[in-house]
Amino acid sequence: MAIPYGKQHITEEDIEAVVKTLKSDFLTQGPAVKEFEEQFALYCKSKFAVAVSNGTAALHLAVLSLDIKPGDKVITTPITFAATANSVLYAGGEVVFCDIDPHTYLIDINKLEEILSSSPKGTYKGIIPVDFAGRAVDMQSVKELADRYGCCIIQDACHAPGAYFIDQSNHKQFCGNSIYSDLTVFSFHPVKHIAAGEGGMVTTNSESLYKKLLMLRTHGITKDPALLIENHGKWYYEMHELGYNYRLTDIQAALGTSQLRRANSGLDRRKEIARNYYQAFEKRPYIHGQSGVVEGHAYHLYIIEVDKRKELHEYLHANNIFAQIHYVPLHLMPYYKKFGWKKGDMPNAENYYSKCVSLPIYPTLTNKEQDLVINLIDNFYE
Ligand SMILES: *Cc1c(COP(=O)(O)O)cnc(C)c1O
Repeated sequence: MAIPYGKQHITEEDIEAVVKTLKSDFLTQGPAVKEFEEQFALYCKSKFAVAVSNGTAALHLAVLSLDIKPGDKVITTPITFAATANSVLYAGGEVVFCDIDPHTYLIDINKLEEILSSSPKGTYKGIIPVDFAGRAVDMQSVKELADRYGCCIIQDACHAPGAYFIDQSNHKQFCGNSIYSDLTVFSFHPVKHIAAGEGGMVTTNSESLYKKLLMLRTHGITKDPALLIENHGKWYYEMHELGYNYRLTDIQAALGTSQLRRANSGLDRRKEIARNYYQAFEKRPYIHGQSGVVEGHAYHLYIIEVDKRKELHEYLHANNIFAQIHYVPLHLMPYYKKFGWKKGDMPNAENYYSKCVSLPIYPTLTNKEQDLVINLIDNFYE
């Protein structure tokens, strides 16, 4: 049996929830979307949540609602999925990469400050920190910099629903609570923590951003009497912005809400798997980059750094273990190289990429399967 690096977990309850929606009056824009948004906002401890068709749409709407325009510079990390940076380009903005911290793999706060402080205030419009692998960024530090240099913040928490960092007064700050970001985005692709088939969410504490997101999600059209410029009657609507159809269906939302109920038990199991890997590899001289079991980490990915990475990857695949590499640094993608980025620009990201492997981690991975992965890695190096 093949063991992937990540996998959804669908229960009978999930199936019942979807079937119930199929038998209801609404397949889209009905009560299931509203419920998913409310439950997700509660889960993140955020005031508002807007469900959209996928995580990329969430990023795109986040960028548009913060008024990122052609020529605006936005800083992000090269170790993320392409969609993070692409969303800036959709709006005509310019992506500026900031290297990662070699231990956390997250955007390096000191390098971020170097970039921001080496140009006049106002040079950079925004920052998109990514809670890579499920490890929450220290958003308090990012926010201090953003405030000082006049930047907005979109937190890409696609890997990290339920993750948190500990702030300077020793409080847990959950991803998506929107205290240290203008907007936070999530994805419900099956390989992420909560599967909706496809799906995404934006959370915020700002009512005006919330209303803007709702409008942009549906063609920039509103029926809200408080926003209408004229009002011809009950049928009347107005288009105020150039929006999109980025709606989530009720079928997907029902699955999302059902999955959300099990989100915390999924996190517990992921943490257990991470602990098992950590303990198994702790004394192995050929395994690097382990940081122990980090508090608040959502463990979307479990990453090790090794020599002979390519050979290990091939060996594991030959044994039906579908370990993965996350990610090829974005600044080295042919498309981004066209903007002048080149090898050597992001030494920490490039060094990380030459050694990283993401090992299987998902709630239904059994201890037996995990032992098989561990034993194969030991066999390979011994
Ligand atoms: C998955 C992912 C996205 C995009 O989400 P989709 O739902 O696949 O569009 C964006 N950023 C990161 C970090 C992701 O992992």
